[in-house]
Amino acid sequence: MNDRPRTSPTPEELAARVEGRASLNNKQRGQLPKVFWKEQSPAERVRNTGEVPFAYTAVEARAEAVRCLSCKNEPCVSGCPVAVDVPGFLKLVAEGDFRAAIRLIKETNLLPAICGRVCPQESQCQENCMVAKVHKDLGFAVSVGKIEAFLADWERENGVELPAVGATSGSRVAIIGAGPSGLTCAGDLRRFGHEAVVFEAFHKAGGVLVYGIPEFRLPKDIVQAEVDNLEKMGVQFEFDTVVGQTLSVDDLFDEGFHAVYVATGAGLPYFVNVPGEDLNGVYSANEYLTRANLMGAYRFPEEDTPVLRRDNVAVLGGGNVAMDAARTALRLGAKNVYLVYRRSRDEMPARLEEVHHAEEEGVQFRMLSAPVEILGTGDGWVRALRIQKCELGEPDEKGRRRPVPIEGAYEELPVAIVIEAIGNGPNPLIPKTTAGLTTTRHGTLVVDEATMMTTRKGVFAGGDIVAGASTVILAMGHGRKAAAAIDAYLRDESRVSAAPGPA
Ligand code: FAD
Repeated sequence: MNDRPRTSPTPEELAARVEGRASLNNKQRGQLPKVFWKEQSPAERVRNTGEVPFAYTAVEARAEAVRCLSCKNEPCVSGCPVAVDVPGFLKLVAEGDFRAAIRLIKETNLLPAICGRVCPQESQCQENCMVAKVHKDLGFAVSVGKIEAFLADWERENGVELPAVGATSGSRVAIIGAGPSGLTCAGDLRRFGHEAVVFEAFHKAGGVLVYGIPEFRLPKDIVQAEVDNLEKMGVQFEFDTVVGQTLSVDDLFDEGFHAVYVATGAGLPYFVNVPGEDLNGVYSANEYLTRANLMGAYRFPEEDTPVLRRDNVAVLGGGNVAMDAARTALRLGAKNVYLVYRRSRDEMPARLEEVHHAEEEGVQFRMLSAPVEILGTGDGWVRALRIQKCELGEPDEKGRRRPVPIEGAYEELPVAIVIEAIGNGPNPLIPKTTAGLTTTRHGTLVVDEATMMTTRKGVFAGGDIVAGASTVILAMGHGRKAAAAIDAYLRDESRVSAAPGPA
């Protein structure tokens, strides 16, 4: 992992770079040293829930933006799922015009404070950054995400410009789920002048942004600020409402809604299915993180919801969810946290920055290890995890090399908590309780990709319920696409038709 804090230019050098930027040619720009951000030290941050990286200062953001080469073919833009004009906003940042820069980002990305912090930039906008190629080192790409987060924070401190709300259309849209997909769709629908009412099962808006991703990666006041802005735009929220139980999609149409957007995410945890999973001390990462993040288990007993705290914890998986669970366990006081992953480090799907932070904080990686049994104390509690060493075999259908267990190579990890973070599937409640929807064999909803309309007329869907467990930016992109299609549908129903399938 190369995208880590290293020696940065001095403040004088940064100021001189910003001052002299106009005289630099592309070769000189490409060779400018990267501006690394500062971070809380690992020893300090495992004792608090504060954000790990410190934001760029204005001069740091400007000096880093000067490194952009404004490539004609814009590989960074094609790497972004919502095609943010990266060179455009970096140029404005370098010039110090932060207001214009944030306006430009928000033309395509309504949640920059969030995306700047959690997007996997190293496999999106920063992956093909030509500056990184000059340095032959991925870590030296222009820090697009950190600059984006700086801009969004700057805007919050200096006055947020809310998008204009369109003239009232008289049409009403119900949005199910207040995650990034539902929130984005709701905001855009207000821009088109439609009434937007979000129905959310939890007592708070944000979806995974509040119940899954921990405070130390994404402060919750940032998510709440975005929700407050939507409320100012007229988006309405109905909390503690489980659609499919409290009321159905048909009830929503009966209540006078003209269209529905389903954005219920992929919150159904998968389990590895090994003996011992019913023991006390086994959690799905979803439950563990929801208790810790959304329900405030850190502050138990001041808050109602407890979570087990033990010295030795094993986390199964190698994605963002596993990293979040492992790092949360450390912050809840665990002394040894083992991350058990069947493949090698190269195959781990987590963001590089999270892997790097987890390692720095002392998470112990047990690569090429498969869980085979959770062992109990005799009175129903976890006492150990039995793992089997693996080696990498032939690639699977996705091109990732398969883990092959090595016969007889077992080890026992003495742990009292096992957290399973091996993936999530789509929540089946809406598909099961709504006539006319079609699902794939993975349980995701079938949509027309151009409009996000499901196989039922007037019902649209997007985010993880369509893509499977995916990314914030993709969920958001679906929300935008669906809002535009819903607008077209409401204004002229004949232009948008349902995906092929049941009526
Ligand atoms: P969600 O965010 O899941 O929101 C769905 C909402 O719908 C929830 O609030 C839920 O309560 C509500 N809901 C569900 N069913 C109903 C119902 N029947 N009635 C009413 N409401 C309902 N992505 C990244 O890009 N970067 C990361 O670093 C990253 N880290 C992650 C860490 C964790 C722990 C997890 C779990 C995921 C992470 N992801 C990350 C993935 C990303 O968060 C998701 O892809 C994204 O949140 C999907 O957005 P969504 O709006 O489709 O669904």
